[in-house]
Amino acid sequence: MNAKQRAHFRKILEAQKSELSKDIDRTVHTMQDEATVFADPNDRASQESDIALELRNRDRERKLIKKIDETISEIDAGEYGYCENCGVEIGLKRLEARPTATLCFDCKTLDELREKQLAK
Ligand SMILES: [Zn+2]
Repeated sequence: MNAKQRAHFRKILEAQKSELSKDIDRTVHTMQDEATVFADPNDRASQESDIALELRNRDRERKLIKKIDETISEIDAGEYGYCENCGVEIGLKRLEARPTATLCFDCKTLDELREKQLAK
């Protein structure tokens, strides 16, 4: 991967990160706005599950931001784009679709197969 390609992916990741941060801010404000207590127990239950869902989303977004930060430091260290399992180049096409990918297609496929087997 050359410097231009690294800069390209860095830009994509920075953009994703700022998008996610905006989302998280919005969630916090929405939750503050909706902090009304409903009299109807049904409303209250659905509000509670809404909040639980929001919190789960936020948790996922936080993890993704962390992942993006890690990926950006890999780019800066010149270690970006290699499979962390077998060390081959992940490939520009795959990174284009998923800039935070840390496994090559083969390792990812194997990984998913293993997870499926474990889940059985
Ligand atoms: Zn691999």
